[in-house]
Amino acid sequence: MTDSLWTLPSPDVAESLRRNPTVVLPFGSIEQHGPHLPCGTDTMIAERLAEAVAGQLGALYAPFGPYGVTPIHAGRPGTVSLTPETFERLLEEVLLELIRMGARTLVLVNWHELNTPSLNGVAVKVQAEQPVTVVVAQACYTAQRIYRGEGGELTHGGSIETLGVIAEDPALVREDRIEAVSRPPHAAALDEMRRGTEVYGFVTDVGEFGGDGWYGDPAWATEELAATFVERVSTDVAAQVRHVLSLRTAAGTESKEEA
Ligand SMILES: [Zn+2]
Repeated sequence: MTDSLWTLPSPDVAESLRRNPTVVLPFGSIEQHGPHLPCGTDTMIAERLAEAVAGQLGALYAPFGPYGVTPIHAGRPGTVSLTPETFERLLEEVLLELIRMGARTLVLVNWHELNTPSLNGVAVKVQAEQPVTVVVAQACYTAQRIYRGEGGELTHGGSIETLGVIAEDPALVREDRIEAVSRPPHAAALDEMRRGTEVYGFVTDVGEFGGDGWYGDPAWATEELAATFVERVSTDVAAQVRHVLSLRTAAGTESKEEA
């Protein structure tokens, strides 16, 4: 069983960090996901994957909190958005507590794209000021790469998100409300635009995608595919985390310790 700050008694947490001073935390959001998926979709997927990544790394899993930064869904029932300032302050304080406890590597597993600027900002600050390495894992993009060849798409409330919820509990998906594929014109192009790495823009209200706040093909997701979702995505993420840590050990950490 994966070591967890949520379930272990204090001496066992200390022992876990002595064995491996790595802590993995999940980041998601509580927000509307159309009529067919739970508002907790992002957070429940992030928690399950982060726990599995912790297991693969022999690390300690630490909960964070269900809320994220999601102003683009503001005003729609089921959405609770934190301001970036609040999220960042909470994140920094939690990370500093974990470092005080003995953590030397922090892995932030994210399933909500709008958390990214805050995660990156706090990660850089904490790593610069503390004797620690911080790694951000965009698990949603890893899932997109894994499932793209099989027809899966990372869209808000679409096929890959539905797959992640089925992996948690198929009863949470309201199949009776999935009437058809929702594909407003330009929605995919807008996602591609805001996820660009060269020239990119921003979507500041989910209404810009058209439709009614979600799009994609939820019916693509099956229980059979969902059975291996957590294993496939977490194995891939864990391998990438190990790679990043090997680079950091080879370069930055040593020079920092010599100084
Ligand atoms: Zn989502």
